[in-house]
Amino acid sequence: MKVLKFGGTSVGSAQRMKEVAKLITDGEQKIVVLSAMSGTTNTLVEISDYLYKKNPEGANEIINKLEAKYKQHVDELYSTDEYKQKTQEFIKAQFDYIRSYTKDIFTLFEEKVILAQGELISTNMVTNYLQEQGVNAVLLPALEYMRTDKNSEPDPVYIKEKLAAQLEMHPGAEIYITQGFICRNAYGEIDNLQRGGSDYTASLIGAAVNASEIQIWTDIDGMHDNDPRIVDKTTPVRQLHFEEAAELAYFGAKILHPTCVQPAKYANIPVRLLNTMEPTAPGTLISNDTEKGKIKAVAAKDNITAIKIKSGRMLLAYGFLRKVFEIFESYQTSIDMICTSEVGVSVSIDNTKHLNEILDDLKKYGTVTVDHDMCIICVVGDLEWENVGFEAKALDAMRDIPVRMISFGGSNYNISFLIRKEDKNKALQSLSDHLFNNK
Ligand code: ADP
Ligand code: ASP
Ligand code: MG
Repeated sequence: MKVLKFGGTSVGSAQRMKEVAKLITDGEQKIVVLSAMSGTTNTLVEISDYLYKKNPEGANEIINKLEAKYKQHVDELYSTDEYKQKTQEFIKAQFDYIRSYTKDIFTLFEEKVILAQGELISTNMVTNYLQEQGVNAVLLPALEYMRTDKNSEPDPVYIKEKLAAQLEMHPGAEIYITQGFICRNAYGEIDNLQRGGSDYTASLIGAAVNASEIQIWTDIDGMHDNDPRIVDKTTPVRQLHFEEAAELAYFGAKILHPTCVQPAKYANIPVRLLNTMEPTAPGTLISNDTEKGKIKAVAAKDNITAIKIKSGRMLLAYGFLRKVFEIFESYQTSIDMICTSEVGVSVSIDNTKHLNEILDDLKKYGTVTVDHDMCIICVVGDLEWENVGFEAKALDAMRDIPVRMISFGGSNYNISFLIRKEDKNKALQSLSDHLFNNK
């Protein structure tokens, strides 16, 4: 069985939902994971912000506007009064439910319930549409099988068992529709897999059912060799190794959620990135194969802080790095890049919640300096150390850009540069010009 995930833009209007329905009804049994309609989760975050600030009038105004939009989508989507009415009733109930949260105290718990509504609504709309079209489609409620444990990590054993039970209830269905993003946590409360997490849902489901393929359908024809929002002329990469895709997703290629690669990689299930707007385009295949000896793509991760700890006697003082790392560990702050020398060590972090405490603790071991507003540029490909020339090519592209850190050798798949935020666009464009033949 295949698992297909459609993102927000792919289900962003009644017309788009109809096109998705056409794409998925080819007679093959499949599981289809849907995001909320594009913009909805952001609007639900906005509503929650008003409620945190105890402004129910502000929240209600946005809720009413959003509800009016959905009424229109429903009118456009269905051709029969029966399905129009049935879906309008569902949507009204969900919005009344959202409104009920404007009256009481509002905490993280209530916010998660509000954020879940986008996927609950979009999946209901598409399932009803398929049924109106006479397709044997059923809705699998993600809240019945998608679950995280006490460390907020998905619980694969629970997911596999409960999902199998859900599927067994409808053995003959052609299409199983389900919600991306949403789940329950270890306490049974409604929770989610973080923003953009529908990709993660798809790969967790793929692993749970041992799918033959996981397809991520979005608004672009696969992983491009650079960020198409910043660089002009980018080209889709046809094939990526799991590790290459993981590096790109982690270091900012928004097309794929960073957590999505791991479950597919462990279960060895190929992931295909495809374009809903151009369904016949080949897209990108992510698997255990890769084209050897080639730089594939570049990505950038923002909001990075660099910290340097200089200790005059680092080499003699064995145990120095352990002490440094323990400080980051004690504040649950993960390190992205690391560079060492005889006299000091530089690291980069993206979570600055405990920066002040970390700096205070580090000062016991040396002189500490901090650079804010930095950005990691990550060059990804088959970069085994025996392959000569790639470091030189990447460095040559960066020749006019002040580089704070360089990291190579941590994996066979990346060279990373830490630069200032304001140099990011120039760096991406220059790497594109030097590394790829995008004319
Ligand atoms: P969805 O809503 O379907 O999950 P996203 O907006 O999360 O879609 O991801 C798709 C977007 O990712 C594209 O529209 C594109 O602008 C952006 N993107 C950033 N970097 C890349 C890249 N290297 N290749 C392809 N798309 C990228
Ligand atoms: N709707 C959620 C979000 O916008 C999840 C997703 O689209 O992947 O973050
Ligand atoms: Mg996404």
